[in-house]
Amino acid sequence: MSGLDRTHVAPPALDVVRALFVSEFEEGARAADASDEIPPEDLARFHALGLCALTVPPEFGGLGLAPPEVVPYLERAGMGPAWGRMLAHVANGIWRPIVRYGSEEQQSVVARMAAGEALVAFALTERSGGSGRDLHSRARRDGDGWRLSGEKHLITFADRADAFLLTAASDDRRAADSLTSFLLPRGTPGLQVEETQHTMGLAGTGHRTLRFDDMAVEDRHRLGPVGHGLEVAMCFLDYSRVSLSSCMVGTAQRALDEAVAFARERVTFGRPIAERQAIQVHLADMHAEVAAGRALVRQSAEAPTGAASATAKLFCQRMVGRVTDLALRVHGGIGYTTASPIERLYRDARGYWFEEGTAEIQQLVIARDLLGR
Ligand SMILES: Cc1cc2nc3c(=O)[nH]c(=O)nc-3n(C[C@H](O)[C@H](O)[C@H](O)COP(=O)(O)OP(=O)(O)OC[C@H]3O[C@@H](n4cnc5c(N)ncnc54)[C@H](O)[C@@H]3O)c2cc1C
Repeated sequence: MSGLDRTHVAPPALDVVRALFVSEFEEGARAADASDEIPPEDLARFHALGLCALTVPPEFGGLGLAPPEVVPYLERAGMGPAWGRMLAHVANGIWRPIVRYGSEEQQSVVARMAAGEALVAFALTERSGGSGRDLHSRARRDGDGWRLSGEKHLITFADRADAFLLTAASDDRRAADSLTSFLLPRGTPGLQVEETQHTMGLAGTGHRTLRFDDMAVEDRHRLGPVGHGLEVAMCFLDYSRVSLSSCMVGTAQRALDEAVAFARERVTFGRPIAERQAIQVHLADMHAEVAAGRALVRQSAEAPTGAASATAKLFCQRMVGRVTDLALRVHGGIGYTTASPIERLYRDARGYWFEEGTAEIQQLVIARDLLGR
């Protein structure tokens, strides 16, 4: 496997990762915003540090970090332009269902992902369907293989993904065991990848719509047993809600750091605004929010499943919203201009509302657990 040639033997130092995301990538962030592309030199630096290999098992060329060990890395990734934290987040999570359910042939992509040579995108959401099992894409048996029809949209990194972990309904019952997953190579005949859906923030993350109409798919591309698509998807989502929450803590910490620095430097009526109690209480509130989010993420990373993951996601997405709101207010009007990093952080933070499910869906997961359903 070519990926094993570039096995990373140790994780990079945390201060190196922080400097990469907060300083080095900051320089390319404005260009990324203008072009909606990842600056190629920044992507090369990202891969040189092995940031797609952090959690991947060593037998696939990764470092095998456990969820609690990777949390500090993802937090630092969350401090920079969003493409970096999204790439670290997807690559360090999507291998899980592939290793767990995939054939040897399907697993071969994992080592290439760890080496930064391949990427798999997660394709669940539909314009026509709802969250979870309410999928309208259909997979019907056709001899030894399948015929897939439907669409997926808002698929992160669909612009560059080499394969798609795509889930469709394999019967009409809309039951928990009505879904089946596939690992579809990008070039599968009939799989159309449309133009990028440009988003409010998150420059360079290449969200696109996939369309497929009566597309022939060989059974060797099925990932996991027939009817187990929800489990395959949850194998990614349970972990990834915690991983995403780590990124939210990082984004919020960066917003706080920017607010502290700005408050020290901005002078009104002859004194830095940092000396005003009205500003100090904002900074203190932001600090308390970030600290609570960080503690919750660390706790849920010990057992990243179901309600624990949903709880972290629910709290952290609200937390990063409140913290970036306050950080913008501390900056005053200049924070609303593209001259200030808080402008981009504020926009990027709103993507968290939707990635890996909305607050309402996390609430459903938590309530079901509380009620024993
Ligand atoms: C930046 C970004 C990245 C994304 N990346 C991916 C990706 O890589 N792969 C992928 O598959 N998807 C991805 N998505 C899609 C994302 O997962 C969905 O947008 C999200 O789950 C919400 O689904 P929806 O957009 O269909 O909203 P809808 O389901 O239309 O929801 C609209 C509103 O109704 C509420 N609602 C819906 N159903 C219920 C219910 N049963 N009970 C209570 N309230 C409900 C929602 O909470 C929301 O407030 C991404 C989205 C964004 C914005």
